[in-house]
Amino acid sequence: MGIRVEVLGKNKVVYFFHWPHPILESMKKTTPTRARPTKTKIRAAFHAAGLRLTRQRLTIYRELTGRYDHPDVDMLFRAVQPKLRKISVFTVYRTMNALEEAGLVWRVTTWKGHARYDGHVVAHAHFLCERCGKIMDIEAGDVSALCKRVSGEHGQVQRVDLMFYGEEADCAAEQGAS
Ligand SMILES: [Zn+2]
Ligand SMILES: [Zn+2]
Repeated sequence: MGIRVEVLGKNKVVYFFHWPHPILESMKKTTPTRARPTKTKIRAAFHAAGLRLTRQRLTIYRELTGRYDHPDVDMLFRAVQPKLRKISVFTVYRTMNALEEAGLVWRVTTWKGHARYDGHVVAHAHFLCERCGKIMDIEAGDVSALCKRVSGEHGQVQRVDLMFYGEEADCAAEQGAS
């Protein structure tokens, strides 16, 4: 079981923790309850970020904020392609770069060479199943406390990259059964 915990602030402070750790032990998988943002909210967020809201950007952003699997560009492309006939993988790629640059989405990690994205830009941690590549959200309570501590000790934390690597119970059970 390999665990890497990183907290990135302005000064690229990196923490490493080892198993077992009280933060990890107190975390549990959460049931997603995120509501899709309204068009008015999205428009305001884009405006604040200085980004023009095009139909393509809106569709891609909506797709990302409505799902919980932290997709890569290809997964997003396949999801929006029926709605945006003329879209190309390259356009999705460029859109994700623009959205990331604007702080509207976070790049969660790069797994097997593919950047994975999150539309939920509030400090929370992730668990990556190294067997199937699924990335799951983890309750944010302890992450917020850790952020506060790091902010106090080192400087304002702007985003959090907190990833636990392992094998989810379902995948491990499947492996055992086959
Ligand atoms: Zn899995
Ligand atoms: Zn997430």
